[in-house]
Amino acid sequence: MNVYDTERMVDVMAPEGYDQVNTPEGADLVVLNTCHIREKAAEKVYSDIGRIRKMKDAKKKRGEEMVLAVGGCVAQAEGAQIMKRAPIVDMVFGPQTYHNLPKMVEKSISLKERGQKSRILDTDLSVDEKFQQLSKKAVKKKSTAFLTIQEGCDKFCTYCVVPYTRGAEFSRDIEDVMEDAKKLAAAGVVEVTLLGQNVNAYHGRSKGSDEWGLPELIRQLAKVDGFERIRYTTSHPHDMTDELVKVHADVKECMPYLHLPVQSGSDKILKAMNRSHNSSSYKKIINQLREIKPDIAISGDFIVGFPGETDEDFEETMKLVRSVTYAQAYSFKFSPRPGTPAAIMDGQVPEEVKSLRLTRLQALLKEQQIAFNKSVVGKTLPVLIENTGKTEGSAFGRSPYMQAVQVNIGDASFDDLNGKIFNVNIKESGPFNIQGVLA
Ligand code: SAH
Ligand code: SF4
Repeated sequence: MNVYDTERMVDVMAPEGYDQVNTPEGADLVVLNTCHIREKAAEKVYSDIGRIRKMKDAKKKRGEEMVLAVGGCVAQAEGAQIMKRAPIVDMVFGPQTYHNLPKMVEKSISLKERGQKSRILDTDLSVDEKFQQLSKKAVKKKSTAFLTIQEGCDKFCTYCVVPYTRGAEFSRDIEDVMEDAKKLAAAGVVEVTLLGQNVNAYHGRSKGSDEWGLPELIRQLAKVDGFERIRYTTSHPHDMTDELVKVHADVKECMPYLHLPVQSGSDKILKAMNRSHNSSSYKKIINQLREIKPDIAISGDFIVGFPGETDEDFEETMKLVRSVTYAQAYSFKFSPRPGTPAAIMDGQVPEEVKSLRLTRLQALLKEQQIAFNKSVVGKTLPVLIENTGKTEGSAFGRSPYMQAVQVNIGDASFDDLNGKIFNVNIKESGPFNIQGVLA
């Protein structure tokens, strides 16, 4: 979602004459778009500010200004602290106010020109206005795109900052989503990934009386000319309805890949996390999906070392992973986040224990990922070519299962292949990608 938000910031600044550059060195405006989900991500912002400070000073010596902005969820949660701790920062804005970026930048520059200190803070949490502003922008030509349809969360898992930093659950109106989708298709987008913190809780209203859930939205998007692949992320098991499961069988554009975070295999821990599902209801969903779509690739998120997690609880997680078998997954050590209930729960797990558990879990998940990648060797898969490869005569693409694919394209021209789907004979596999040749 931060990638999507960053693209939108580039969009809103383009009419002001700004373009995206590859390095902050020498830039007129630097935006640090931050993540608050774990402590490690949040702390990064201060080391980045230190690094940018040197560039800003160097520019000043040349008689030029650099505007330094901190955006995103750290800004939302710790805006005032950032202003205090890092006087070099000119402006701080949350994830729901970046459509105001042009106005903020203009104000900052005019304050500087008048020799005043530029200090702007905008952390309003209302989402509606943001999307209204963003929808007006044109789209550059590309083959894959993110499309935010839902934001925020009302589920309040006890470890998570999202409900506080992104605000309450919000679904964009159907017409707005469809309008954006058509613009993307017109710009050449073949694969669209629908985004939301709880994307499957989507319930968009229409200007008429209809309300669509995610299943209906996917069915309608599949009819948009040009869309050949539809993905959505991130889903919550609670909102994985029978109808949505069915979409995976009925809608050929809906890719056979699902990121469905479970977090833990222990029902005691899931309850303490306020996750509204248990290990068996989660496995039931996976079984339903596999029944209807046998080749579906499953991905997940895991937290180890949640307060009160015993060795036995952790073994339950390992057991669940063995029974589900993942194509790929993300796993994290529990990170106590200020203001969340879990941060002050009894039974905080020592760092060394978390590390040991994470190492074991990641070894198992890696084993499963290697096995999944190996399982497609010898098959022919449709691959969407998205980029040039690492070597001459190769291209990079994605399989329907989200695998990164290095494709040997021989003498074919990359430009002719780019943005299109081709059958690829898969010859080899590794832990992180698979390799093949054009069929
Ligand atoms: N809405 C999604 C996930 C959003 S956050 C869901 O409900 O699954 C992305 C992932 O970050 C989570 O799935 C979780 O695994 C991890 N995460 C969130 N808060 C965390 C914390 N305090 N410590 C460690 N990992 C965390
Ligand atoms: Fe965070 Fe996801 Fe739980 Fe919402 S459902 S509180 S985003 S982990």
